[in-house]
Amino acid sequence: MFRLVLLGPPGAGKGTQARMIAGKYSIPHISTGDILRSNIKEETPYGVEAKGYMDKGELVPDELVIALLRTRLDEEDCKTGFLLDGFPRTVAQAERLDNYLKKRGCRIDMAIELDVAEDILLKRMVGRRVCRVCGATYHITHMPTRIEGVCDICGGETYQRADDTVETVHNRFIVYHKETAPLLDYYQTGGILNRFDGSKDPETIFESIVSVLGA
Ligand code: AMP
Repeated sequence: MFRLVLLGPPGAGKGTQARMIAGKYSIPHISTGDILRSNIKEETPYGVEAKGYMDKGELVPDELVIALLRTRLDEEDCKTGFLLDGFPRTVAQAERLDNYLKKRGCRIDMAIELDVAEDILLKRMVGRRVCRVCGATYHITHMPTRIEGVCDICGGETYQRADDTVETVHNRFIVYHKETAPLLDYYQTGGILNRFDGSKDPETIFESIVSVLGA
């Protein structure tokens, strides 16, 4: 049983590792970015409010994200563990998460950081394509789909996220350094931060993570 958070700059490969870790340890993979995108698609009040921030690469206000996350964490499948991908993004969010868990007699077991240099990230993100249906991620040169624009796993359409353009990616890096990087200190001080070299291939990174978490 694990309660994990996955940290790292945009494009570090959090989604790919999250799916592998969640699969191996049978815990739900909770991506606040995915939850927000599905709210935008369904045009919920949360989605309408979040869209403007997301399209510019800015963070959505804490209250909105925390409300959506709490609803998800209250679901039955999260009682025995979970993996958070893209949350927390600010120290305030991390503190709120800790309080939420403390009231339920539990805590985050490990913060997993994927560390990657920015020039690598930019290339990764601008070439990234995502399946509209199952969320699988590809890259136009490093990991293309067998048929262009069609997901290998489910046959869904792949697309470029609105926030994966060069300008927005730059803004997301700025936001990451300002808001999210201080979280590394937060978890380091808490003694639960583990750093992994995110420039390696996904299988190698995954093996290193498993060697720390346990088989
Ligand atoms: P992601 O899919 O994790 O890269 O998130 C995409 C975008 O969703 C981010 O650039 C933010 O605008 C928004 N977002 C996702 N998670 C959070 C969060 N925990 N706090 C604030 N904004 C978030």
